[in-house]
Amino acid sequence: MTQSTTELHDLTLAELAGLLQARKVSAVETAQHFLLRAETHSALGAFLARDRDCTLAQARSADQRLARADAAHHPLLGVPLAHKDIFVTRDFASTAGSRMLAGYRSPFDATVVERLGREGVVTLGKLNCDEFAMGSSNENSAYGPVRNPWDTARTPGGSSGGSAAAVAARLTPAATGTDTGGSIRQPAAFCGVTGIKPTYGRASRYGMVAFASSLDQAGPMARTAQDCAMLLSVMCGPDPDRDSTSLDTPAEDFTRTLSDPITGLRIGIPAEFFGDGLAADVRTAIDTALAQYQALGATLVPVSLPRTELSIPVYYIIAPAEASSNLSRFDGVKFGHRAEHYSDLADMYRKTRAEGFGDEVKRRIMIGTYVLSHGYYDAYYLQAQKIRRMIADDFQQAFKQCDVIAGPVAPTVAWKLGEKNNDPVANYLADIFTLPGSLAGLPGMSIPVGFGAHGMPVGMQLIGNYLQEGRLLNVAHRFQQATDWHARVPKGF
Ligand code: GLN
Repeated sequence: MTQSTTELHDLTLAELAGLLQARKVSAVETAQHFLLRAETHSALGAFLARDRDCTLAQARSADQRLARADAAHHPLLGVPLAHKDIFVTRDFASTAGSRMLAGYRSPFDATVVERLGREGVVTLGKLNCDEFAMGSSNENSAYGPVRNPWDTARTPGGSSGGSAAAVAARLTPAATGTDTGGSIRQPAAFCGVTGIKPTYGRASRYGMVAFASSLDQAGPMARTAQDCAMLLSVMCGPDPDRDSTSLDTPAEDFTRTLSDPITGLRIGIPAEFFGDGLAADVRTAIDTALAQYQALGATLVPVSLPRTELSIPVYYIIAPAEASSNLSRFDGVKFGHRAEHYSDLADMYRKTRAEGFGDEVKRRIMIGTYVLSHGYYDAYYLQAQKIRRMIADDFQQAFKQCDVIAGPVAPTVAWKLGEKNNDPVANYLADIFTLPGSLAGLPGMSIPVGFGAHGMPVGMQLIGNYLQEGRLLNVAHRFQQATDWHARVPKGF
C-alpha cells in the first residue's frame, strides 16, 4: 500500500478508479476505509443497511480481478458505491424506506445493481430514502430522516436523500438514486453533489421498487459529472426481457465526449423558471453560473415552457394513480409485512396496509384510487395525460431554439427538518422545476453552482433532449473544469 488510506475519501471516483487500476490501493483497503467512515458518521442517518462481510467479499473478488490482464477493460473494478434502498439486492435487505418491507430480502439483484456488480463495483450498503420514493425531504422514510451534511438541522432533500448526503459527506464516492419527479436532481442540489437522471427508458427499472412506472428512472449521484459519466455508461442499456419500457438504444461510453468544446452551445432559459417563486439567493447563484457559461463560449437563448405550473397538478395526479396500482401488491400475502392479528382475509389486508404504509404513501394511494375511479377518471386522470403530452410538446418547441435548457433545480435551498413536514402541498410545490422534465421523460441533471442562504448549496438544472445524456454530462464537465463548487466539502466531513 503506497496511498495513505486516510485520504481515500478526498478522491473522486475517477481518481480512486485510477489508483485501483494502478494497484496503488486495494479494493479491500478502500472498502474498509469507507465502511469506517460510514460508521463514524452514522448519525447522518444515510445508511439503512451495511454488511461488512458481504462488502469485503465483493472487494476481495474485485482485487482478484484487478490482478488479471483484462482489468483495464473494467475501469470501475474495486470502486465502492452504495445503492438507494429502492433497488433490490440479494446481499442486503431492501426496504424502499418502508415498514412494509422491513428486513425484506430479494432473491435477485436489480438490473442496475447487477450491471455495476458485473463491472466489479463494490457495494457499501443501502441508503435511506423516502418511503417508496415519495417525498422531497427524506422525512417520509419509516427509518428516520437523513441529515444534510452542510447543516445537520436541514433536509438533504428527497427522495434520494441518503444517496446525496452520503456522497456529500464522502461516506461513499458515489451512489445510485432514482428520479420520478426530481428525486435525483433535488437532493443533489440540496447537498452540493452532481446527479443525472437519464432519458426515461435508458436504465432498466427491473428490480427498482415501483412508485410511478411511467416516470421512474435510475441514475448516478457523485461528486463530478465525470464520475456520473463513468457510472451511467454501465447503468444504461436495453433490458428487453425484464423491462418492457427499456429503450432499444445501446449503452454508450459517456466519458468519451466529456471534454468536447461547448463554444456555440445554445442554452435555453425558460422564463417560467425565473419567476417570483424563485428565491433571490438561488437566482443569484444560477445567474452567476450562466455568466460563467457565456465566458466558456455558450449563448443564452430565452425560451418558454408555458405549462410549467401545470406540471404540479398533472404529476400529482399521474404519479399517485400509478402508485395506487403498483402498491396493491403489498397485501400481506406475497411478501413484506403481515398484520399479526386479523379476523378474515379482508381484515388482514386492511390491517397489514394500515400498519405497513406511512401517511404520505396512504395519502397517495387514496388520491390515486380517487382519480382512477369511475366518474373521475375522465375529469382528472385523462385530462392530466393530455396536459402531460402538451408539456412534452412545449419542450420540443424549446429545443428548436436551443441545445440544452438551464434553470434552478428547486426554488429555495434545503429547508429545516420538520419545516414542511405537516404540509404536503408545500412539499409538492417545491417540485415545480423538476416535474416538467420528468413528465416529458427527458434527461436532466443537477450540478453544484454555489451557495445561497444559510451557506447551503445551490444546484443548477440542465435538461437535454431525448438521449442527450452525453451532451448534458459534457456541458456539466466543462463547467466543473472551470469552477470548483463541486469540490467544496462540508465542515466536519
Ligand atoms: N418529490 C416528488 C414526489 O414526492 C418526486 C419524488 C421522486 O422523484 N421519487 O413524488
